[in-house]
Amino acid sequence: MNITAIYPGTFDPITDGHLDIIIRASKLFQKVIVAVAVNQEKAPLFSLEERVLMVEEVTASLSNISIIGFSNLLVDCAKEHDASVVLRGLRAVSDFEYEFQLAGMNRRLSPELETMFLTPAEQYEFISSSMIREIAKLKGDVSSFVPKCVDDRLIKKFT
Ligand code: ADP
Repeated sequence: MNITAIYPGTFDPITDGHLDIIIRASKLFQKVIVAVAVNQEKAPLFSLEERVLMVEEVTASLSNISIIGFSNLLVDCAKEHDASVVLRGLRAVSDFEYEFQLAGMNRRLSPELETMFLTPAEQYEFISSSMIREIAKLKGDVSSFVPKCVDDRLIKKFT
């Protein structure tokens, strides 16, 4: 089946956990769109341009991945790009409540759009962008949780 999936998130910054989900999705779907949310209310550490650039860099070797920035409603963005599946990552039970609510709301807004969840390999289950930012800010070593180009940018950001 020729299915396009959209994987939305803030990706502030992209981590090895996000990348694990993207690689799994690239094997399941014809096309995967990584949709980087502007998300101004979260006051991201990296600008939208920087976040998009990092996702582009780390997914360069995957041929069926494309990257976009978006600021409109996810269901509208999915429609614009002919995506019929919204992809989200589930790490632990703590993610479930929010993700369940989001999936339910998106279904009410756009009944034909399905939400699908993927879980990462267990070594990535505890990685979150917020924790990465926190550790990097305090000059901790995050090189084993994020791709090299992201680590370099974090070091630069906090120097
Ligand atoms: P958002 O602000 O929309 O939660 P994130 O960039 O934090 O954006 O996450 C995007 C998606 O990736 C979410 O579904 C989140 O649960 C998932 N995710 C985040 N970190 C990981 C990880 N380490 N492993 C698997 N999925 C993850």
